[in-house]
Amino acid sequence: MKHRILIVEDNEPNMELLSDWLDAEGYDVLCAATLAEGYASFKGDPPDAVLLDVQLGNANGLDLAEWIRQEPGLKHIPVIAVTAHAMVTDRERVIQAGCNACISKPISFTLLREQLEWWLGKFRATME
Ligand code: MN
Repeated sequence: MKHRILIVEDNEPNMELLSDWLDAEGYDVLCAATLAEGYASFKGDPPDAVLLDVQLGNANGLDLAEWIRQEPGLKHIPVIAVTAHAMVTDRERVIQAGCNACISKPISFTLLREQLEWWLGKFRATME
């Protein structure tokens, strides 16, 4: 069965790039362009992993990560933050918010593939 990946990203070209890439990698893709759409994406069947842009216009993407970590049915879902800031303090902020990993832009797809495979594998292992 295909894994479903939620992308939360407010930049349309970035969203398209990520979405096309994930599709080509064999994933099902859910897209959210705002924080509100991000929350709404959990109303139905939750995704298997989340790619989370930290800077969502005026909103902080990390709010979504913190919320996921507090929801009993969702807190095991891997969240990979995508950030323009590669500073050590920002990485700490991202991890503190409950993200499993942090990838900086421009995205290395080699790294993203490794991260997704690792965290999806780990997630599956905890559910079995
Ligand atoms: Mn953004």
